[in-house]
Amino acid sequence: MAFDIDMIKKVYAQMGNKVDKARTILGKPLTLTEKILYAHLAEEAQEAFKRGESYVNFNPDRVAMQDATAQMALLQFMQAGKDKAAVPSTVHADHLIQAKVEAEKDLANAKVTNKEVYDFLSSVTNRYGIGFWKPGAGIIHQVVLENYAFPGGMMIGTDSHTVNAGGLGMVAIGVGGADAVDVMAGMPWELKFPKLIGIKLTGKLNGWAAPKDIILKVAGILTVKGGTGCIVEYFGEGAESLSCTGKGTICNMGAEIGATTSTFGYDASMERYLRATKRDDVADAANQVKDLLTADAEVYAAPEKYFDQVIEINLDELEPHLNGPFTPDKATPISKMKEEAEKNGWPLKVEVGLIGSCTNSSYEDISKAASVADDAVKKGLKAKAEFSITPGSEQVRYTIDRDGMVDTFKKIDGVVFANACGPCIGMWARMGAEKQEKNTIVHSFNRNFAKRADGNPNTYAFVGSPELVTALAIAGDLGFNPITDTLTNANGEDVKLDAPTGNELPPKGFDVEDPGYQAPAKDGSDVEVIVSPDSDRLQLLSPFAEWNGENIMGAKLLIKAEGKCTTDHISMAGPWLKYRGHLDNISNNMLIGAVNKFNGETNKVKSQLSGEYGEVPATQRAYKEAGIPTIVVGDHNYGEGSSREHAAMEPRHLGVRAVLVKSFARIHETNLKKQGMLGLTFANEADYDKIQEDDTFNFLDLKDFAPGKPLTIEVVHADGSKDEIVANHTYNNQQIEWFKNGSALNLIKKQNA
Ligand code: SF4
Repeated sequence: MAFDIDMIKKVYAQMGNKVDKARTILGKPLTLTEKILYAHLAEEAQEAFKRGESYVNFNPDRVAMQDATAQMALLQFMQAGKDKAAVPSTVHADHLIQAKVEAEKDLANAKVTNKEVYDFLSSVTNRYGIGFWKPGAGIIHQVVLENYAFPGGMMIGTDSHTVNAGGLGMVAIGVGGADAVDVMAGMPWELKFPKLIGIKLTGKLNGWAAPKDIILKVAGILTVKGGTGCIVEYFGEGAESLSCTGKGTICNMGAEIGATTSTFGYDASMERYLRATKRDDVADAANQVKDLLTADAEVYAAPEKYFDQVIEINLDELEPHLNGPFTPDKATPISKMKEEAEKNGWPLKVEVGLIGSCTNSSYEDISKAASVADDAVKKGLKAKAEFSITPGSEQVRYTIDRDGMVDTFKKIDGVVFANACGPCIGMWARMGAEKQEKNTIVHSFNRNFAKRADGNPNTYAFVGSPELVTALAIAGDLGFNPITDTLTNANGEDVKLDAPTGNELPPKGFDVEDPGYQAPAKDGSDVEVIVSPDSDRLQLLSPFAEWNGENIMGAKLLIKAEGKCTTDHISMAGPWLKYRGHLDNISNNMLIGAVNKFNGETNKVKSQLSGEYGEVPATQRAYKEAGIPTIVVGDHNYGEGSSREHAAMEPRHLGVRAVLVKSFARIHETNLKKQGMLGLTFANEADYDKIQEDDTFNFLDLKDFAPGKPLTIEVVHADGSKDEIVANHTYNNQQIEWFKNGSALNLIKKQNA
């Protein structure tokens, strides 16, 4: 699987000096997070960065991509003119596999349904030196933890739960595809220097309390927004008492509090995990630099001096929790669940219990859940609810099967789904979900938004640890508290479930026959990238045209968007996800969610060519065909939401030249720049009101485009009257070169040539 020990040793070899320098610059002891961040700076630091303010360039060590986001990322990477990804990178085929019957059948079906996507990913990774984990190999974050994560490393991944690798002491961050392209093309990656939250764990988990309950409790404290712009660092005796995979679960769900990422200092549990996953050389290398892989001693002794916020949780007293419904921060201790459910009208009958996913499918998780199932069987109980297991990797699946756990689950009618995302991401063909009946499910995944699991808006989903989910599936009752309550078995006896037991790591070691990994060709230059020309899901990209050096004249208004215009409004998800690898097809969703200021409607704008109202994409396609440039006008925080690059690529592809708004969400603004668009803001916000439906725009001084120099735009109204407005921009010299060359990738390609 080729984790790159040489790369890891190189990171460690340079880390000492970089950390010393950072300590001098900051003039104080360092947190672990600061050590990792300062050790991965793209340029040497001259001064301390301001947390929550400074934008900083980093050089991550690795890139990981999942199959849904990898498609456009790799189509773009092909444009960079590189022969190989600049850093070790992998692609994981996990999101497109539907859970319907059971693993084998579902996997076979997915291989047919997604053949063209898999053929593309398999060939493009082979061509460009990227590892490919085939369908069935496992879920990206579990596979990364088992094979690639390493203490002190920095990784980006095109999936929000990339943060899972914090369990092995990394700073691992979820990003958009365009960021992955930059890093694979050898460019630095920019991040706002985060604020730091320290979470001190005292005591030790006991009984039914699991690592999952720590993050469920934290989510209850911080809410879904509390971690925004922050990295969370866990420490204390309680942290050291957790398994490495338990730490992974906690970091995984850091995404649910909005945190940039979460991490733990290197300790004995990480060393055990590295050795159990056959990475002795990584453990040996980490042991040589232990001091660099955790915070300076003074930090944890007086955390309030070094973190922006400190939270303390006593694990001795922590109760198992269930979070939900509909939001992962609604935390209820199990002892209060019956009362809460009755009060709120949540259905008490549990219909389905689902364990596994990237969040909770370690050997420890599964063995604890299996101990509960085994105990139930021995006491004459069966599961009242349906029950399923989604292993996180083939290595885990093979090992738990070998160790008899799959048989144990079968005794309570458990169904093993493929090693993939399945029910966690709406890829669950749940029978009867279309009836939209009100019902309750419990799962050990991370997100429980409406419709997320089965598409039914009336499914009340609650998140808990795998062992608690198993107990609730057996009881079939959301209000069941295994710590205090009994169940009646087939003989009419009242029995009580024992607290779960399990093994942190398999006593007989991990085993696997075929992990499902495809190593890339050593020299991929002759490898053909397979994209069927008549595919409606994949399309090779053509480079965007360079700027012709002229002022843009005669641009028409496509839409003046009013109010919230997020990346979802600009490039909707849902059924459109299927076209993520086909720029022209997905462009048919461009701005269809944006509200037109002039009629208050979505996807209905006036064409200045015909005078008729029509859909936004069709109207824009007509302008493009007529060779007429257009502009989009927007309100505040335009492009907030995800870092989806499609929201910038679609307007660019269809011929929009500029986006002029009151303010931008920064990531979207950068994405527009990368795609060679003009992202501009009104110098005077009131000018937004001057824009009328039939306006034409002339950019008077684009030829003098320069950093810090506003642009002047003449707005010609239908009655012939004119307004001159000033547009600000934040382009630096490099970004102006992106604009001139048509895109950042065009420039990279030129530089490589
Ligand atoms: Fe995302 Fe769920 Fe897949 Fe994890 S299992 S990567 S949370 S979809």
